[in-house]
Amino acid sequence: MSATPAAEAPRLADLLPALAKELRTLLARRGLRALADTVEGLRVVKRCRCGSDLCGSFYTAPPPDGSWGPDHRNFMLSPSLILDVVGKEIVYIEVLDRNDVRDALARAMPDPAPGKSQP
Ligand SMILES: [Zn+2]
Repeated sequence: MSATPAAEAPRLADLLPALAKELRTLLARRGLRALADTVEGLRVVKRCRCGSDLCGSFYTAPPPDGSWGPDHRNFMLSPSLILDVVGKEIVYIEVLDRNDVRDALARAMPDPAPGKSQP
């Protein structure tokens, strides 16, 4: 495979090895082996900046302009772990209430400007 626009983003398996392993295990357990095999190559393209304390979600593909399109599906692997899949690609990983994940992402991808500017 050649370089993708996300090629310089950190690998999920490097940034969050425990989460990557957990994802692989949960996907394989549900018979989603093709998806499980893609976990190793996933990159953390962008983290969610919704500002919620509970949120440790992130994009593994560049976010679309609008919706993800007709091939978009959700897989709830656990109450705190929900995958967004388009076709055969994991594009977004919703991680809720997992401080370890949220903190690791915040360290790896700090906010561009310090402080909050919410009304
Ligand atoms: Zn969020």
